[in-house]
Amino acid sequence: MTAAGEGANAQGADGMYVGIDVGGSAIKGGLVTRRGELILEDARRTPVEAGRAGIVEAIADLAVTLIDSSRSPVIGVGIGSAGAIDPDTGSVSRATDNLPGWTGTPLAELLAERTGLPVKVDNDVHAAALGEAWTGAAKTYDSFVFVALGTGVGGALTSRGRIIHGFRGTAGEIGHMLIKPDGLLCNCGQRGCWEQYTSGTALNRMAKEIEGFWDSHLLFKRFAEGDSRAVEAVDSFVKDLATGLVSLQNVFGPEAIIIGGGLAQSSILWWESLEHRLKEMTTLPVTIIAAKLGNRAGVIGAARLAKGI
Ligand SMILES: [Zn+2]
Repeated sequence: MTAAGEGANAQGADGMYVGIDVGGSAIKGGLVTRRGELILEDARRTPVEAGRAGIVEAIADLAVTLIDSSRSPVIGVGIGSAGAIDPDTGSVSRATDNLPGWTGTPLAELLAERTGLPVKVDNDVHAAALGEAWTGAAKTYDSFVFVALGTGVGGALTSRGRIIHGFRGTAGEIGHMLIKPDGLLCNCGQRGCWEQYTSGTALNRMAKEIEGFWDSHLLFKRFAEGDSRAVEAVDSFVKDLATGLVSLQNVFGPEAIIIGGGLAQSSILWWESLEHRLKEMTTLPVTIIAAKLGNRAGVIGAARLAKGI
């Protein structure tokens, strides 16, 4: 467990929230103040081999550890989880096998039983968007789209400070917008989904197509050195990324599009080129902003869920 940053002195102020971010490989958690300062962090490995019960147990163990570590009373728990989450019940409406047996899990109910506290649950990317809205890059925007470029591509659509959930929390699956009819087969069953061309997985595939031993990191390294094959691949990534962003701008009319996720770490290499591409493609003002909270956005946003929006 580690104290996070200068906020460590803030503990002892009035009431605290626990935020938890549940992913396929790790469960991250933290103690967050009423002002959105993350003052203590902890994590567990996601015990996928143990199935639903084991994953719930790991989340509960992390939540209770954090609650017990807090010097001032914890007044609520928020959880951001992979999968579509019904915001009314806090249950998992749909999830992939990254979290085995996760579909149908009454997460809010189970965690409320274990912690004795009110528990709010939403999708992990929705939670990350709330984190960016609370203390990060989206602080000044009421209506924004959050794009998480990671292993896949996740998203959150916000309007007037609220997440647009759609039916049972299934809105925001922007990675599965079709951008290439009859394109690459996606694990969702469709062909030509945006994430097949703009995710870390896509970049790894493109890198391997150039040289068998390349991955996305080496692709970006070669791109920075001016290797023509790497330049062509990254250009294609940027073009496909821009294509989806223009559609999002048209459909949701956000004030800004916040770009986060693991791939955003490389964005210094392609950001200018993306802005240029967007200007070529549309006369609409598409404002793109880099996310600020990195992989802490989910924990901070989950705490925001607990606090209420
Ligand atoms: Zn798909």
